[in-house]
Amino acid sequence: MGWPRFGLALPQKASAGKPVPGGAAATGQGCGTVDDPGFYHAGDQVAVLTTQPIDRALDYAAPEGGCHAGAFVEVPLGPRKVLGVVWGPGAGEVPKGKLRPVIRVLDAAPMRAEMREFLTRSADYTLTPLPAMLRLATRAPGLGEGPAMRKVYRAGGVEPDRMTDARRRVLETLEEYGGLAFTLSELAQMAGVSTSVIKGLVKQGTVREEDSPRDLPFPRLDPDRPGKPLTEDQARAAGTLDDAMRAGGYGTTLLQGVTGSGKTEVYLEAVAACLRAGRQALVLLPEIALTAEFLTRVEARFGARPAEWHSGVFMTERRRVWRMVGEGGAQLVVGARSALFLPFRDLGLVIVDEEHDSSYKQEDGVLYNARDMAVLRASICGAQVVLASATPSLESWVNAQAGKYRHVKLTSRFGAAVLPEMRAIDMRAERLSPSSWISPSLRGAAEARLERGEQALLFLNRRGYAPVTVCRACGQQIACDHCDARMVEHRFLKRLMCHQCGETRPIPETCPSCGAEGKLAPVGPGIERLAEEAQAAFPEARIATLSSDLFGSARALKARIEEIAQGDTDIVIGTQLVAKGHNFPRLTLVGVIDADLGLQGSDLRAAERTFQLMRQVAGRAGRVETPGLALLQTHQPEHPVIRSILAGDEEGFWRAEAAEREAAGMPPFGRLAGIVLSGGDLNAVNTLGQALARNAAPLHRIGAQVFGPAPAPIARVRGRHRVRLLVKAAKGAPIQAAIAQWIAPARLRGDLRLAVDIDPQSFY
Ligand code: ADP
Ligand code: ZN
Repeated sequence: MGWPRFGLALPQKASAGKPVPGGAAATGQGCGTVDDPGFYHAGDQVAVLTTQPIDRALDYAAPEGGCHAGAFVEVPLGPRKVLGVVWGPGAGEVPKGKLRPVIRVLDAAPMRAEMREFLTRSADYTLTPLPAMLRLATRAPGLGEGPAMRKVYRAGGVEPDRMTDARRRVLETLEEYGGLAFTLSELAQMAGVSTSVIKGLVKQGTVREEDSPRDLPFPRLDPDRPGKPLTEDQARAAGTLDDAMRAGGYGTTLLQGVTGSGKTEVYLEAVAACLRAGRQALVLLPEIALTAEFLTRVEARFGARPAEWHSGVFMTERRRVWRMVGEGGAQLVVGARSALFLPFRDLGLVIVDEEHDSSYKQEDGVLYNARDMAVLRASICGAQVVLASATPSLESWVNAQAGKYRHVKLTSRFGAAVLPEMRAIDMRAERLSPSSWISPSLRGAAEARLERGEQALLFLNRRGYAPVTVCRACGQQIACDHCDARMVEHRFLKRLMCHQCGETRPIPETCPSCGAEGKLAPVGPGIERLAEEAQAAFPEARIATLSSDLFGSARALKARIEEIAQGDTDIVIGTQLVAKGHNFPRLTLVGVIDADLGLQGSDLRAAERTFQLMRQVAGRAGRVETPGLALLQTHQPEHPVIRSILAGDEEGFWRAEAAEREAAGMPPFGRLAGIVLSGGDLNAVNTLGQALARNAAPLHRIGAQVFGPAPAPIARVRGRHRVRLLVKAAKGAPIQAAIAQWIAPARLRGDLRLAVDIDPQSFY
């Protein structure tokens, strides 16, 4: 991403705990004039924070008519006009006569003080420049435009005089998205046609042009419609959340229960309680593909659909959501992690579903963990947080054990559904022909299920056809030119792809190293190759392959999942995409092709992740009446993690894992921060790394240790060399302030970059 992280000595001011000039307003102490705290009269000096990479707020003169603290404004910056927020009173550094005035106040609800505080504190926590944080909070197009009408386009129902390819694409696009209406440019872009094609269709009545008001409020949700009658277990859990909502103020609850135990039903009751109190609720989901099913459930429960916020939402709708959240015209938002930065007027509840999911950690641009930031935001605005999971993160489990979080458990699956039986298949004892991965035992079990008309899932967490392509003449593996990574064959796309940088190229006929012809061979399985094997093993079976890269859009994927749930498939082959919450009622067998996969490597969280993923995948089986079976193919059935997965001994696993981390002073019992240095010139990157390691006095003062510099596990990405340092400190140590001080003198010349990752999730 384009943000020059620490491109200058930017963040130190903010991160040393000293707010930007005027930042005091964020804590409610700043005031413009005596009569109206937070209002500035024309000509008053105000500090405006822009989304430009400048290390502090700049002073301007309040415009004609004055402005409120938090107002969204347009200000001159050099020759440009840029977006900003009135952050507080000016610092008074600019003589009055030289002050440039704010150009205009935008027609949007001012940013609330609590939001400014949230941005300031999350910037401090993640050591991110405040302007980058502000950008996360202003991701709505046309923010400054008034509530006018606009033209939208939808299907008109009249056949065109003649059909062309372009026209067909327009009609198909409109059909794919049901009754939705689009702006001209959206529709043209999605259909891949010029706007004149659409205008031609309008003349014929095939496409209808309408005036539509921008930014309509969302339909009211009715919390008093009856929900499903809850079981005793569920009612107790819902009661606890309801009490917490009524008590008001901040609190976090860990809602733990096996897949299918009704966590969603229970937290929807908390949403109802929040809506009854007249406050807004936010539900975060880890995967866009999950929202379709969830939206349907919300509609069934509350009688209308909530607002949606994620990368699949169109620009005009984004703007509507952003504005309505701020004006109170949206009671409930369902979204991805960035929804946390929406301008809620009165946020009363945040649900983080599948709270352990690693996708809550943003690994690009601003490095933040949405789960942790949800807790921060809630603690500032007096909201409740519910962290829901069948397999909580160790962090949350420890917080619950320590009494920092309430702990609510659902112990049984709803109705007759029981947890699947889990068994290992010892691969050392199985006979497999070369280049095949489905063991005879697994194959037999699947056959039995298919005969009964049930579904089986084969799980392999590897996209593509084969992870390695090797030349049988010279032995070379095909690697990416820009990264230290092998190219992965994607037969479906007919290309090789680098999973680091996304670069693709055609599958070559000849070896790029030795030029030998027809000698390139795939090694190892990806799910496309597994699908091939499954089709050969079960020629009659209808097989569906689910992987994020096989679908053009989130909607296409959703539709496919819907079809599978309806039962048009016998065998589902999938990556971790299928592990997350989809309901496949007829699924009774899960076969994990390689249960050892996640245990390799030295990642701190390898055991935790494998445990969570295996439990979650197994939870897909036997959700309704038919008992399920999960079979784990493994070469190390005696491995402690595999053993605790099989035994279903969750508490035992967490206790053992917690004890191990505690003994090592690792998170959550200690703090870690990763520093990644990168640049085109390996020498310069190394020199900087060594200089940092030598001059680590600020870290030593807080008792922290520094490891490295060492080549990052992926030492080159997109042609940039990467070197990392790891900082390890005691739990209560002021790690952010020390790091800020430590890196402040670093001079980042040329294309050198330094990125700080507080509480790193992965170590790539
Ligand atoms: P989880 O979120 O823990 O995986 P869900 O809330 O999705 O569990 O519940 C699993 C399935 O059981 C869903 O189809 C849900 O509608 C159903 N279910 C759960 N509790 C009840 C209940 N009390 N009455 C009726 N159906 C229920
Ligand atoms: Zn690459």
